[in-house]
Amino acid sequence: MGRSSKDKRDIYYRLAKEEGWRARSAFKLLQLNEEFNLFTGVNRAVDLCAAPGSWSQVLSRKLRCGDRSASGEEIKIVAVDLQAMAPLPGVIQIQGDITKVSTAEEIVRHFEGRPADLVVCDGAPDVTGLHDVDEYIQAQLLLAALNITTHVLKPGGTFVAKIFRGKDVTLLYSQLKIFFSDVTCAKPRSSRNSSIEAFVVCQNYRPPQGYVPNMSNPLLDHSYDVDFNQLEGPNRIIVPFLACGDLSAFDSDRTYPLQLDTGKEYQYTPPTQLPISPPYQHACQLRKNNLLSKADSPSASGLLQSGDQAQAD
Ligand code: SAM
Repeated sequence: MGRSSKDKRDIYYRLAKEEGWRARSAFKLLQLNEEFNLFTGVNRAVDLCAAPGSWSQVLSRKLRCGDRSASGEEIKIVAVDLQAMAPLPGVIQIQGDITKVSTAEEIVRHFEGRPADLVVCDGAPDVTGLHDVDEYIQAQLLLAALNITTHVLKPGGTFVAKIFRGKDVTLLYSQLKIFFSDVTCAKPRSSRNSSIEAFVVCQNYRPPQGYVPNMSNPLLDHSYDVDFNQLEGPNRIIVPFLACGDLSAFDSDRTYPLQLDTGKEYQYTPPTQLPISPPYQHACQLRKNNLLSKADSPSASGLLQSGDQAQAD
């Protein structure tokens, strides 16, 4: 496969490299922002599951003007991921697991008693291909992100998180509705139609009266009924679904020619930031030392990413 073939198949992958984003996911947050105006008045933000860092890049570029906001306020952006991430201007990094209390405590410490205005989470587990398992783990990540959010978000603040729209997604919506007055499910143009992924945009944080944040699962909605999905008419709570991103934006499911504009010749752009210590690094080392047979090698099983493939989703 030529090094430009992914540029052809995935227009957002290519644009991300050309515009200097570490991952194509940057466009998802940018397109969500076009619809929901997420960054206005935001001085303190948390980016959960942030590596390799394209959402943190978006936050850094949108919120900061030099070292402060356009109105002169101090800007604080805290990014968390299991994996190491290359530094970014104005972004404090924590390498940690968002399901752990210690990570929540570390985030809270950075905010020094001043709550965040915005929490975003693009967390995704390594998918197994077993859809029920993947959806379950994704839901657990979202709940962990919600738990952390209840510790750091200011009343009225916004929480944005990746969600898999699987069979029991209404249970998650129901949980989120306990904490936010407005919950919308949004699908940016840069998120492939073929993907189960969407994003919940939860606005106006207003926890139940007397709610004390803790790291066990957030409040259950006791009125939730497993047959919820079967309810009809006014009994069924449906969160609005919004397709976002300008209609003229590129279609992430389409293959585009390499030469996009007639006047402008295609030029290959290398990835913006190679992974620092990717999970396949050990396998590459074994392979180099001939300790791994060819059939078992990550390149044979499709796990090895070349420099061309290393730009993340
Ligand atoms: N938003 C990122 C960007 O724009 O570059 C991409 C995020 S990537 C799709 C998903 C990330 O979730 C991975 O980097 C993974 O390490 C992280 N992740 C998965 N489970 C996690 C956990 N329990 N704690 C922290 N990070 C986690």
